[in-house]
Amino acid sequence: MPHTRQSLDIVTPFFNEAESAVAFAAMLADLEVEIAARFNCSVRTILVDDGSRDNGASRFAKSLTGNWEIIRLSRNFGKEVAVLAGLDRADADLVLIMDADLQHSKDVSLELIAALLAEPELDVVYAVNSREGSHSRGRLSKLFYKLINSSQRFDIPANAGDFRVMRRPVAKALTQLRDKRRFNKGLYAWAGFRDKAIPYSPAERVGGVSKWNGLNLLAFSLEAFTSFSVVPLRIVSVAGLLAAFAGAAYGLKVLIEVLFYGVAVPGYPSLAVGVMLFGGLNLAMLGLIGEYVWVTLSESKDRPVYIVRDVVESRSRDTQQ
Ligand code: UDP
Ligand code: MG
Repeated sequence: MPHTRQSLDIVTPFFNEAESAVAFAAMLADLEVEIAARFNCSVRTILVDDGSRDNGASRFAKSLTGNWEIIRLSRNFGKEVAVLAGLDRADADLVLIMDADLQHSKDVSLELIAALLAEPELDVVYAVNSREGSHSRGRLSKLFYKLINSSQRFDIPANAGDFRVMRRPVAKALTQLRDKRRFNKGLYAWAGFRDKAIPYSPAERVGGVSKWNGLNLLAFSLEAFTSFSVVPLRIVSVAGLLAAFAGAAYGLKVLIEVLFYGVAVPGYPSLAVGVMLFGGLNLAMLGLIGEYVWVTLSESKDRPVYIVRDVVESRSRDTQQ
């Protein structure tokens, strides 16, 4: 372990987590003590209020001890963007990202840090949710990773989220990726670096509800694909080609029947089926291409990724510097 005192920033995004504030602050106080004792690190917590509509920010401000700041965004930008806002403020040797709902425990956090500091060659240690995988949503998510990883030079590991600790160069690299529609798992993988996974099983939320449901999971997957994969477009092209060949073959068959066997072609049912089938396929594929065009459009606008409303800081900045 190096003699110089290292610094560690904890980045935590929160959205409507007033119910978790007190418990989170208590956990954090313990975590800070243990980090200081075990790793000789000074700790600062950077909370990002992702446009909460409850009084979460003031509850956090009241409960937190030690060295902290709360960055309040001007509205809800989504967890992925809130994490970026936190990383933009972070400047420590190590950066730990964890949730505010206590699903990411103190013990696993310590395990991540210990694993990273144990190997100087490692840049990132991330936690992998070992509970996912068997139920139907788990199978769907397996399919999702298989598809999205089918055409690129880097692999997005399954069930690895934002719960991770990284060295400063990694955090810096991530802040250089200014995608507005962010898919963090993809960005981590894109950035590269040497990483290691540690399995964990997330705890229950202390309060409030998860912000994920079927619909926004679907939107999230679409976002992931449109920013990290060209596979859907390839499927569209191949499907189009196959349909064209099938059409040509069918046309040839009809032509032969008429010319050589004098069969009167019963046109109407096959026409109706063909028109409906390919009309529908056309619309679906146009929609898909539209998704990619929309991504291009939103990324090409020169807007910032997020806007900060204000920053609230603890007064005790003595442990830092
Ligand atoms: N979160 C956020 N902005 C959002 C949604 C969630 O900052 O728009 C925060 C949330 O407060 C929590 C973390 O991101 O600290 C993870 O969210 P959640 O618990 O809803 O996700 P899950 O644990 O179910 O994956
Ligand atoms: Mg959660």
